[in-house]
Amino acid sequence: MSHTQDWNATINHLKGVGPKTATLFQSIGIYTIRDLMFHFPFRFEDLQARELNSLLDQEKVALVGKVITDPTVSYFGRKKSRLSFKMAVDSYHIIQVTFFNQPYLKKHIQAGQMRAIYGKWQEASQQLMGTKLINQTAGEDFSPIYRSTQSLKQGQIVKAIHQAFEDYSASIEEIIPNYLNQRFHLIPLQQALKAMHFPSNSEEQEAAKKKIIFQDFFLYQWKLQSARYQRQHLRGQKIDYPVDELRQAIKIIPFELTAAQKKAVNEICVDLLSTYPMKRLLQGDVGSGKTLVAFITMLAVVQAGFQTALMVPTEILAQQHYQSFNRYFEAVGFHAELLTSDMNRELKKTTIEGLASGRIRIVIGTHALIQDYVKFKNLAYIVIDEQHRFGVGQRQELLEKANANHLANILQMTATPIPRSLAQTLYADMSVSTIDELPGGRQAISTVAVKEDEIDHVYDRIEKEISLGHQVYYVLPLIEASEYLGEVENVQNIVSVLSKKFPAVQVAPLHGQMNKEEQKIVMEQFKEQQIQILVATTMVEVGVDVPNATVMVIQSAERFGLAQLHQLRGRVGRSHLASYCFLIANPTTQQGKERIEQMVKSQNGFDLSEADLKIRGMGDLLGRSQSGIPMFQVGNPLEFPEIMQAAYQAVQEIFTQKNIITNEERQKLIEYAEKQPIEV
Ligand code: ADP
Ligand code: MG
Repeated sequence: MSHTQDWNATINHLKGVGPKTATLFQSIGIYTIRDLMFHFPFRFEDLQARELNSLLDQEKVALVGKVITDPTVSYFGRKKSRLSFKMAVDSYHIIQVTFFNQPYLKKHIQAGQMRAIYGKWQEASQQLMGTKLINQTAGEDFSPIYRSTQSLKQGQIVKAIHQAFEDYSASIEEIIPNYLNQRFHLIPLQQALKAMHFPSNSEEQEAAKKKIIFQDFFLYQWKLQSARYQRQHLRGQKIDYPVDELRQAIKIIPFELTAAQKKAVNEICVDLLSTYPMKRLLQGDVGSGKTLVAFITMLAVVQAGFQTALMVPTEILAQQHYQSFNRYFEAVGFHAELLTSDMNRELKKTTIEGLASGRIRIVIGTHALIQDYVKFKNLAYIVIDEQHRFGVGQRQELLEKANANHLANILQMTATPIPRSLAQTLYADMSVSTIDELPGGRQAISTVAVKEDEIDHVYDRIEKEISLGHQVYYVLPLIEASEYLGEVENVQNIVSVLSKKFPAVQVAPLHGQMNKEEQKIVMEQFKEQQIQILVATTMVEVGVDVPNATVMVIQSAERFGLAQLHQLRGRVGRSHLASYCFLIANPTTQQGKERIEQMVKSQNGFDLSEADLKIRGMGDLLGRSQSGIPMFQVGNPLEFPEIMQAAYQAVQEIFTQKNIITNEERQKLIEYAEKQPIEV
């Protein structure tokens, strides 16, 4: 090359990539040559030759041997063919090699030649079902396989990537500071990228992965911690609340806060009193009492003369929080208003006007809060419940409704338990408060797995609890429409079975086909104990709080994920009463079995999340998109927590020790962060 090429050039600059192919690359998110180099294969075929006696039946392997007979081709059916020959492997062992529908290979194979062939080993017939001839002179040991599309073929991708490394290797820029590469023995990015596609052996492949994972985690940490640092230098609204009045107001709460709740309230209050705009995560297991921490701190903000908003993901939850806030605090002069999309127009209009004028100080609502027409007079504190249910953009939209001169304080609450060790590092842009105890007097929820034909045990318990004046949830999975019965029929079936079984008892359905008003009425009646058994699809999954309910029956429990089962079980055991959870399950898969076993064994959300990870393995990253754990192309933070930890500390170090990296290195990182959209 006569001049240095820039790897940030668009893909059409690459030799061999015309405008048409360029569009195909763009359609899978590859715009620049850099993007292409970071488009890693999703798997490799291992082309390293193996010995016969180490092979498993049906294993995909490469074998090297001497061709003993010239290949013969026979044709059958329409356009189908079979090519076969004999080959001596490990010097004396003779095997049969067969290729289907690649008759053209005949001219590349002759008796007497040494050949390497990739295929599937058939133990019984001592036969290799070939899929490709390996070109040994090219020195390939691993052959990368990329996600391709109908029109963008495997071969085109491989060719383009080869070309990219040929012409643009020199322009690959290191972004990890040198001292970190040395400390952690990381290979240069240039070498790592190449080895991600064309590793010469498995050690190099591992080294490449390590580098890419570290780089991804490091840049993630850099972005988060930059945002946090930036935030510390922004001006927020100082919430100068009257401490004694707050103490007075919360005396109305009929029970003592747990030590963990008190600690969380204090941490939040300290932040509120500073001019630094708070961004804090409040994590705590289901039933640990996060709501009250939110309410108390909201009171402080209102007493200081500002507005506050609590946003929740469902209508049912909004209703519930709205009612319980007013139940506690109306007596001491605080009133919250509700804002959801299904409210009647007039009410909604009044609330919206009240928020704009400042007459309403406390609002509890759903996504309706982020609609354009909702304006606040002096919003200074935002609480988001079940934060993992909202997108980054949605939280940001609510924040932007705050006073233009000051950033609002934000508290995000979640019960999605992630392993403790990871919380601080994954949420490095926030402060974290953890509620690590349940309110006193709670008993463990007795959890048992039962088979369909043992349902009488379940009925006995239901009968007993109802006779004690307690209530029951009966939950079934949302069944896909393709299955025999729809959601409504499934729920109705159970309702009629239970009504027959317990004729004196009120049994009611709750499902997604009912309108919001009907759902609300049913929830209210359940709360008021006019309904004893609530038969529901997963509508009750998040947040619902009816402490008098003591039985949770989960039908087809094997269909639910572990986190979801734990959330569902968390609907009971919310008072001093003994509670029961029945998992009616007939798991057919190993994973299903293990999930049920874990549920029986543990009631701790943190432990369950670690178990979940082990059960699911790494194959199931997508299911985590709702869990608040960021995803990366190569490494999952749950799989490599120690690398995330190292990256976290490295970034902290760079922030605090001015001369640990060169100015040039720092500049590159700053430029990187500037290009990233940062949520403040
Ligand atoms: P979560 O953390 O799952 O959101 P909630 O805030 O819904 O939990 O609280 C669960 C239940 O525990 C509610 O009924 C609540 O009134 C009750 N609760 C909260 N704090 C205490 C406490 N300190 N003592 C007794 N009960 C409490
Ligand atoms: Mg909650």
